[in-house]
Amino acid sequence: MTFSCNQEKSKTRTKKTIKKEPIIKDYGFTFNDYNVVRDTLQSGDTFSTILEAFTLPDSLKSHDVTEKIKDSFNIKNIRAGKEFITFSDKKNKKELKALVYIQDKTNYLVVDLRDSIVVQMKAKPTVIKRRTVAAELNGSLSETLDKLGVSTALAPQMAQIYAYSIDFFKIQKGDKFAITLQEKYFENGDYLGVEKIEACYFEYKGKKIYAFPYKLSENQKYFEYYDEDGKGLKNMFLKAPLDYFRLTSRFSRARFHPVQLRWKAHNGTDYAAPHGTPIKTTASGVVERTGYTAGNGNFVKVKHNGMYSTQYLHMSKILVRTGQRVSQGQTIGRVGSTGLATGPHVCYRFWKNGVQVDPLRLKLPNTEPMSKKQKGSYLEYIKPLKKELDDISAKTFKEE
Ligand SMILES: [Zn+2]
Repeated sequence: MTFSCNQEKSKTRTKKTIKKEPIIKDYGFTFNDYNVVRDTLQSGDTFSTILEAFTLPDSLKSHDVTEKIKDSFNIKNIRAGKEFITFSDKKNKKELKALVYIQDKTNYLVVDLRDSIVVQMKAKPTVIKRRTVAAELNGSLSETLDKLGVSTALAPQMAQIYAYSIDFFKIQKGDKFAITLQEKYFENGDYLGVEKIEACYFEYKGKKIYAFPYKLSENQKYFEYYDEDGKGLKNMFLKAPLDYFRLTSRFSRARFHPVQLRWKAHNGTDYAAPHGTPIKTTASGVVERTGYTAGNGNFVKVKHNGMYSTQYLHMSKILVRTGQRVSQGQTIGRVGSTGLATGPHVCYRFWKNGVQVDPLRLKLPNTEPMSKKQKGSYLEYIKPLKKELDDISAKTFKEE
């Protein structure tokens, strides 16, 4: 008779309960049927030394067993400190019936000696569960995720998704987020981690930035993240350092300089705008230099990574300090006409690997924009996903 340890059943059976041994099943074996010993590999242990401690069922030879193991397992991967389980005969504890070598949380090697020698690498069955969570930052993102019972490995993953729009060094208490995720569990309920993000938003400085992983075509290898309007999240550089402007001079190798009245290369792009207009850093980074020179006037140079730097000239006002971390779109100064300038404008300079280049001609690592048709199906696809995020947010953060 099989016996299940169902909670409800034991509740109803209040009178005399006869203590029954619970059935333990794992790694494809019913532990109760064997004499089971869990052990740890010591340094110098091999499958041969493990087998030496036992006798084998009739007609099986230790050498054949180790040969069979070699066929399906790279014995170089055997490590001291790893667990193994021996299953021997219930009456004759010396007679080995099976051996399980636990390689990691998921993978294990079964050496089954019950009939013939069968050696197989196996993986524990897992299940994927889906849930939507929302929280307000209290401590770091990792700490907040941990409190939700979500793997903290998700924090750097989120920072990656928002690398071009949020400075994760600057997120703070009160910033909010919601995520719909798929998480992996073993069948016994043990948590394995995040399998996939289906949708999320991060509310940074009061602005919600949604992110939905999406492939524009079947043959696209990786997902790109798009916001609720279908705009790609990966836009390393803004198109211009100003919101509204007039492009007055493009990058060129030679032009007639309006102030110096001679032909000169123009290693920048000029954007004219009224005096005082906010100048924005086109990408996140660290302020490399601020200062004044006769030609540049007040200027700010921002280093974005090992490859890219940008510089903004002729400012009427500098609003950042050297060494300061800035996020994409942050105002770093105001339009002016300091230095060699005929009128208020910003001269925008762009370096790639230390060489000044024309950003308007550069192929930048940006998300491929959607076509109108693609956008239609995308918006249809994200509708329920966005609703899930919004619904849980409304529940979690009552004010919405
Ligand atoms: Zn210029």
